[in-house]
Formats: sequence, C-alpha cells, structure tokens
Amino acid sequence: MSRVFSGIQPTGDPHIGNYFGAMQNYVRLGEQYGKQSLYCVVDLHAITNPGAFDPRTLAEKTFDMAVANFAIGLDPSRVIFFVQSHVPEHQELSWIFTCVTPVGELERMTQYKDKSAQFESVPSGLLMYPALMAADILLYKADTVPVGEDQTQHIELTREIARKFNHNFGETFTEPRAVYNQGALRIPGVDGQGKMSKSKGNTIGILEPLDDIWQKLRVAPTDPARVRRTDPGDPDKCLIGDYHKLFSPPETLETVYQGCRTAGIGCVDCKKMLMTHLGAHLEPIQARAAELRSDPDFVRDALRQGAQEARAIASEVMNEVREKVGFLK
Ligand code: SF4
Repeated sequence: MSRVFSGIQPTGDPHIGNYFGAMQNYVRLGEQYGKQSLYCVVDLHAITNPGAFDPRTLAEKTFDMAVANFAIGLDPSRVIFFVQSHVPEHQELSWIFTCVTPVGELERMTQYKDKSAQFESVPSGLLMYPALMAADILLYKADTVPVGEDQTQHIELTREIARKFNHNFGETFTEPRAVYNQGALRIPGVDGQGKMSKSKGNTIGILEPLDDIWQKLRVAPTDPARVRRTDPGDPDKCLIGDYHKLFSPPETLETVYQGCRTAGIGCVDCKKMLMTHLGAHLEPIQARAAELRSDPDFVRDALRQGAQEARAIASEVMNEVREKVGFLK
C-alpha cells in the first residue's frame, strides 16, 4: 500500500512560494491518497535550531500553519494532519535510528554544515535532525515523500537508515522516494534578489493583508529595459510577469505580453492587473483562515483527531520495531 508523508515547518505565515511549491501539492496528493496521506507540522524539528525559534511563539505558529493549510483546502477530515510533538513515537524511533547511524553520515549533511557554522557550540539535536526526519517518514512506512530539492540528501540518508535497520534487525522498512515539489525554487522574491524566502524578507504571504501586498508590489523592480514608459520590455525578464503566470488567466497574460513588448501598457497598470487577480485568488483563502481563527476549537480538535489517527499507525509500527530491536515487552 502506498502512503504519503510530508513535514511542514511551523513558520506560521506561508508565502506564495510555499503555496505554489508545496501546499497545493499536499492538497492534490491528499485528494488522491485520502487517509493514506499524512501531513505533520514538525515542531520537534523547529527546536533543533535554537537561534531560529522563539518558545513564546512556537505554539501560535504551529497553530497558524494548520490554519493556513486548512484554509487553502487541505481537509483534515480526509487526510491525516497533526503536530509532530503530539505523537511521541517520532522521538522513540528517532532515538533507535541515531543508534544505527554513524556520526560521520550526519556530519556530512550539507544543511548541518551550513546551520552548524552559525554556532560556537553546536546543539546535538541539529546533528540528529536527519535521524528524526527518517523517523517521521519510516514511522508510517511512507513510500512517497513530497519535499523540496534541498531535502534530497536527507531522503537519501533516510533510505540508508532503512537499509541499515533492515540489515541489523530484519526486513521492516521500505525505502521511500522523494517527489519533488514544483515551483518553489523558481518563484522570485518581491525584491528581485533571487528566490522568495522568509530569511531574505522578500515574501508575499498568502495570509498577508492585501493592502500590504500592494505596497510591496508597487515598489517591486520590473524589467530594467523599461526605463521610460515608452520603452518595450519582456514579461519573462520581470518578476511581475512571473507572478502573472501564477495568478492571471490566459487572456490577461496575453494582454501583459502584448502590452509590455509593445510598451502599450505601463508597469503600474500591469501591477494593478496582477493585484486584481492575486486578490481574487487569495481573498477566499484569507476569509477561510479568518473563519478558522474564530473557531480555534475546530482547529485544535482536528489536530487532536489527526494525532490519534497517526498514532494508530505509528504504534503498530513501533510494536514491530521494539520487538525486532529486542526490548522486553
Ligand atoms: Fe513587468 Fe508588466 Fe512592466 Fe512588463 S509591463 S516590465 S511585465 S511590470
């Protein structure tokens, strides 16, 4: 049986790169796999980097991440959506995996090298991150893992850990495969300085007030060839053109291409057209998020229910693992 697992960082306010890159993929896979698709807000991962999380806001951001995913159409009654720390089996399996994973394998992870360089004294949780990630996936014997391309090395290590465990304790886990989220890497930031990313502060949040989004678009750089209103440009060299491709219908895209290349439209008009379609797309999502926020019990109940459903699978797998590792029953 095929099963999907994906971890979601509790950043609280996803941007349109996350939305088009990963979140829409979750909805698609959720419709296809139903209760065989598990989505988990990975708060245990979030605390591995003490510089990047705040204990005063972690719970709120975890909650907000659930709200955002439900608001875009991930239906908690049709998929399994839960919070990682609500299912303690993640930690138990992670510990067992750290016992079969050489330190050298963990130390050679590129993300570990990058993140650990920020610390004088590196928290060991940062090193163990990929073992926890392997536990997240293998705890459900998931074989399909939607991730960004930056997670390739971690998925490869997960496969190695599965092989190692199977070799040491007998055939238990199948090796999962990564399914790459599309688009996230290609969506440019609103400052025109490369990829949209929270750390660069160049995002458009899907739950951001539309007025704030307009203020960002208003001053966003466009094709540098359009120095004067009469200079023609190229939407393929302009981040506003890229955003149009995400939000605007074909007839608007045609107007943009034609108008930009012939200097028939100005950049401000073009941005206003974008704002109309972007607003029409995000408005219902923001309305749904506001509804969910006004009913926090619904969200909490959905997360509790998700954790129960996840535990039903996890506890069976852990019984098998405990027995194979040789723990006294
Ligand atoms: Fe960009 Fe639109 Fe201006 Fe062309 S007209 S450069 S696509 S903002």
